[in-house]
Amino acid sequence: MCFSLSSNLRACLVIVIVTLFHPGETHAGYLCEVCGKDLRIEVFLCKDQITLVKKEICASCIHNLPSCFLCSIPVWTNAPGYKEFADGRILCKRDAATCVAGAGEGERVVNEVRDWMNREFSRFMEFTDTNTTLALVDRPTLETLFKFPGRDATCPDIWGTTQPLTNNGVVTYEVGLLEGLPMCMLRHTVAHELAHVWLNENVPPERYKRLDRDANEGFCELIAWLVDETCTEADLKAHMRRNLYTRGQIEIFLDVHQRFGMNDIVEWLKYGVDKRLVPDQVAQINKVVMPPTTNSVAGSATNEAFTFTAPPPAPAYSAIILQGITWSEKRPLALINGNTFGVNEEGRINLGGSKVTIRCLTIQTNAVRIRIGGEEQELILRSR
Ligand SMILES: [Zn+2]
Ligand SMILES: [Zn+2]
Repeated sequence: MCFSLSSNLRACLVIVIVTLFHPGETHAGYLCEVCGKDLRIEVFLCKDQITLVKKEICASCIHNLPSCFLCSIPVWTNAPGYKEFADGRILCKRDAATCVAGAGEGERVVNEVRDWMNREFSRFMEFTDTNTTLALVDRPTLETLFKFPGRDATCPDIWGTTQPLTNNGVVTYEVGLLEGLPMCMLRHTVAHELAHVWLNENVPPERYKRLDRDANEGFCELIAWLVDETCTEADLKAHMRRNLYTRGQIEIFLDVHQRFGMNDIVEWLKYGVDKRLVPDQVAQINKVVMPPTTNSVAGSATNEAFTFTAPPPAPAYSAIILQGITWSEKRPLALINGNTFGVNEEGRINLGGSKVTIRCLTIQTNAVRIRIGGEEQELILRSR
């Protein structure tokens, strides 16, 4: 992933010079927001890239102080509270207060995010921790990792990268995460990189090669976006939204996620026909060719090249049938015509030889309310 921090810096250097006072005069009450001294002739308006608030800063601070790598505001280094990293990056006191540094804390965040993802997406994906190592690294290390063959080396500002390594036919993943990111950004980056690992591990190789890189990144950003929903810092969350990567594919993935749900996205990633999603044609998500389920060639099931084969006939349902309820107070699930739904989830089910979209409205211990074609229906669980 890649966020253009250098453009942030440029934004800060687009400076408006305002002459507030007559030359030589100072005015008590007009103080530089970095050093606190009286502002003299020149006032530089510099936009905080996190809060988007414009700050009035004196010429001396603008010219002599280093800039915070997150917010771009000059950092007052004459008092404690700011943070400097070995790679030269510097964080202002405010942004230093929320940053994650140190292997122990990094590991805790990684585990937390992975657990959250495994709970949230348990019906669609599993994010394992057996073959992946994640570590906080400094910027030069991250850039080195990023410049492995096959990776885009043109982007200088990166937060994380995933490197698959093959040894004796066993694939492992080395994930580098930029140290010093605020908690929300680190969580975002962890989610994005774990999604990359999932794609590598779960999409058939032939399909993986065909899958457009923007679609690959778009999916990872979708997962990261959903993790961002847990971020309680509004300014940071908005900042991440403004900097979304992937040249448009994230917008389409969000749209598709809302309309079709995660199950369809996962199916499309694995077995889709098109290499990328196209705006206004999102129904293409339904164009999938499932692999044969039962006739795998003996002994080569895992190596078998993916081939286009007629999909197995879907079970025929002539009515909407509530087949089961997995009850829990917090997250009840209903099995309807072979598909699992949580409360407020929408998805397609097989009905009368075609697919129809339903939304699951409520789930009780023995009944479910759904909406189909604008009408509500109650489904009762039949006792066997
Ligand atoms: Zn100043
Ligand atoms: Zn800052």
